[in-house]
Amino acid sequence: MKINVAAELKLAGKTSSRHFEEEHAPVELGGHRLIFTMPISVDISYAYDGEGFSAQGVLSSELLMNCTKCHSEFRQPFSVEFSERFIKASDDEAEELECYAFSGEVLELDKMVLDLIVLNAPVYGLCKPDCKGLCPQCGCDLNITQCACVPLAEEEEEETPPSPFAQLAALLNIEEEV
Ligand SMILES: [Zn+2]
Ligand SMILES: [Zn+2]
Repeated sequence: MKINVAAELKLAGKTSSRHFEEEHAPVELGGHRLIFTMPISVDISYAYDGEGFSAQGVLSSELLMNCTKCHSEFRQPFSVEFSERFIKASDDEAEELECYAFSGEVLELDKMVLDLIVLNAPVYGLCKPDCKGLCPQCGCDLNITQCACVPLAEEEEEETPPSPFAQLAALLNIEEEV
């Protein structure tokens, strides 16, 4: 994504805006692979202030993700608001000032786009808020099937609570005896 800013460089203070939609290759991120199911969409407005460009906007797309509970694939939309600055400097100088560099009459947005994705894209998520996950015993997907092992596991959990009452009863017995 590139913006020709020849006109804006001559007209400090003028705000312009652009819309981009571009396919993006998968991004490797800490052992995860971010796969986009929609083009990356960027709405950006930018203005030259005599020294650099301030740029604001929204980046959005959709990711193919695997549910952390049931491992099924699902699509997760995400969007990020941004506010960045582009200065006429080398990449290193710009990075030190937490800005992006531009040279000539072109703003090159790819580095900013990648940074926004890496810093903001969701990596973990559930296919739906109430995903039941997989059965810990037989491994079946509890969103689709109800296996025989689940009721057993639930019954076992329900049998444990009586102990506090048993302890209370024991305490009362002791007090009566004293
Ligand atoms: Zn799930
Ligand atoms: Zn099961």
